Amino acid sequence: MMIDHANRLLQSRFSLDGNVLCIGGIPVTEIAKQYGTPIFVYDQSIIEANIARLRDVYSDRFDLHYSIKANPNAAILKCFLDHGCGLEIASGGELHQALHAGCSPKRLIFAGPGKTIQELKAAVQAGVGELHLESIDEAVSLDAIASSVGKKIDVSLRINPVDGGGGAMRMGGQSSPFGIDEECLDEVVERVLSLQNLHLEGLHLFMGTQILSADVLLDQYQRGLQIARRMAEKINRPLGSIDFGGGLGIATFSKEAPLDLDHLARGMTDLIANIDADPLLSTAKLIIEPGRFLVGEAGVYLSSVTRMKQSRGKTYAVIDGGMHHHLAASGNLGQTIKRNYPSVVANRVGCQAVQTTEVVGPLCTPLDTLARKAELPAMQQGDLFAVFQSGAYARTSSPHGFLSHDSPAEVLVHRGESRLIRRRGAAADFLRDQAPASAEETV
Ligand SMILES: *Cc1c(COP(=O)(O)O)cnc(C)c1O
Repeated sequence: MMIDHANRLLQSRFSLDGNVLCIGGIPVTEIAKQYGTPIFVYDQSIIEANIARLRDVYSDRFDLHYSIKANPNAAILKCFLDHGCGLEIASGGELHQALHAGCSPKRLIFAGPGKTIQELKAAVQAGVGELHLESIDEAVSLDAIASSVGKKIDVSLRINPVDGGGGAMRMGGQSSPFGIDEECLDEVVERVLSLQNLHLEGLHLFMGTQILSADVLLDQYQRGLQIARRMAEKINRPLGSIDFGGGLGIATFSKEAPLDLDHLARGMTDLIANIDADPLLSTAKLIIEPGRFLVGEAGVYLSSVTRMKQSRGKTYAVIDGGMHHHLAASGNLGQTIKRNYPSVVANRVGCQAVQTTEVVGPLCTPLDTLARKAELPAMQQGDLFAVFQSGAYARTSSPHGFLSHDSPAEVLVHRGESRLIRRRGAAADFLRDQAPASAEETV
């Protein structure tokens, strides 16, 4: 089965004005004119629809925390806060971002295998709702910090199960820097219970990312429940919280089918019934903390064609953006096979594909390719190239410093209006100041 995700997204998430892609109803030609390119554009209504959909699937028994490393823009964080979500953070910088966006510290959970003493102190000072411990050493450090300020801190143990579930990036089952091995659960629980300034709330699991199978997710959750029961028996009281992690995937490549949310919802009904039937678990706060699923489909990376070229029988479209802004779309973010993200020539959508084109960025490396052997309409300078599935792990996980191009601006579209939510870097100002006003005519 091959799915054309550009088409799927055009029909389900975006719209057209003639041949022009519209984001939240606004033609990208207008957005490019107003803000310039390259740029990330997000449609808030897609994020809102995703929140609503997950609330349906997981029911109101679950608290939804947004994992902010997927996209930490303050305007996006505010959108989640306005919709009653908590946030999941994994660094001191994300703590700062989250508080700055107006998140109540109580609505924060803080995970990550390498929290420094400084980060732990800042989290304690701020009053972060729950800290997720990833080692005994970390528990001991946190206990000392808590003692020095006279606070008792709620903690959960991040457990790395013996048998890992699926997902493109597996984190369970193997040796791992993340979490505490399930085999050591009893010993670690005893140690944490002996630390006077920590209060053991519950369990945290995060077993993989970009999971597109509802059955894999449900299996992981069932495994999580087994561990939760064992933990509750060990501490001999009901658990206060169970965090089932994130990991819900978005279909990006042609062989991938979207996650079957109806199937997931049916499985969740059974899972919740199981939890509610167990007195050791029924009073626990249940949490999921997805990132990618909530924001991935809401984002488009928009660039302009700077130059068309031929070389030894191949057609190249050189664009003003590239892998320095969107490493994942270039296939260089840990992918073993380089596959194209769904993309369109955004001002020629629906025009006949007439040439096999390599869409490359301006960096001095052949790695800087955003589409390989793409069947595209005839293109010319000034055309717009749009890469879908660019709302998560796109801008944040890219090497902006490489070749000192500007970091890209970001725009949020909401209720038919667009607004700049991050300014472009300073090189654009420099270039404008350097160039004679009539540069276009003199070249
Ligand atoms: C990255 C991360 C997430 C979010 O993962 P997604 O695959 O984007 O849903 C959730 N929890 C933890 C601990 C993470 O590190």
